[in-house]
Amino acid sequence: MTVSCVSVALVYPELLGTYGDGGNATVLAQRLRWRGHPAEVVVVGPGGPLPATCDIYVVGGGEDLPQSLAARRLLEAAPLHRAVDAGAVVLAVCAGLQVLGESFVGPDGKPSTGLGLLGCVTTRGRGRRAVGELVVEPSARWSAQGLTTCSGFENHGGVTELLPGTEPVGTVRVGLGNKDGSVEGAVKGRVWGTYMHGPVLARNPALADLLLSWVVGELAPLDDTLPLALRQERLRNGPAERYPGRGRARAGLDLLARVAGRGWGR
Ligand code: GLN
Repeated sequence: MTVSCVSVALVYPELLGTYGDGGNATVLAQRLRWRGHPAEVVVVGPGGPLPATCDIYVVGGGEDLPQSLAARRLLEAAPLHRAVDAGAVVLAVCAGLQVLGESFVGPDGKPSTGLGLLGCVTTRGRGRRAVGELVVEPSARWSAQGLTTCSGFENHGGVTELLPGTEPVGTVRVGLGNKDGSVEGAVKGRVWGTYMHGPVLARNPALADLLLSWVVGELAPLDDTLPLALRQERLRNGPAERYPGRGRARAGLDLLARVAGRGWGR
């Protein structure tokens, strides 16, 4: 049997590459190759056309001006809309999440039209910029599909409200997530939005495999000794980095208690 090559599009890394989220495309392709499944990463710059025929699209984080340029390009010929309509999977991180929503904050501070592929609206937060480690407990729907406690870091000034029909990834344990420390992420169909940098798929191989399973079906397990070591280190030390000073030990113990019952997992 011939297996078709899975194509992973890395969307506009020149504009949306500030936080290293391009690593997510590498992780997706490599986890397929390790299982003997052909995969390619297609790097697409904003100067050329974005193919609408790839299997997975990876959209990363960036600053306010580049993200609005990216949104403008993606709205022109609507390649991502066509791809999503055809069943493609999209991973959109931070600016990516914001741009895929209904509207986001432009570089002039005013609302800018988003792609509308996620039901969410992003405005300028009133408080300080959300910067630091982020830990999220996936909702029951995603934990039933193998997703365990998610670890990443956030760095954003925008805050995001979800609209009906779009659900969060889960509940924030450490950090602020979408807005105020309650929920994180925006998922609609096969479009997965998150505020987690890391890259998120390097820190959370279970999420990489969940997204891949939407394309190729059930996946054989891999030896994840190294990413699991990274996860353990981040889940152990991240909370104290986020809450320095007096709350430090308490925040770490709090998180340990929460995840202990569930195991560190993948
Ligand atoms: N420019 C956006 C914000 O500050 C997104 C930042 C990011 O992608 N990390 O909210």
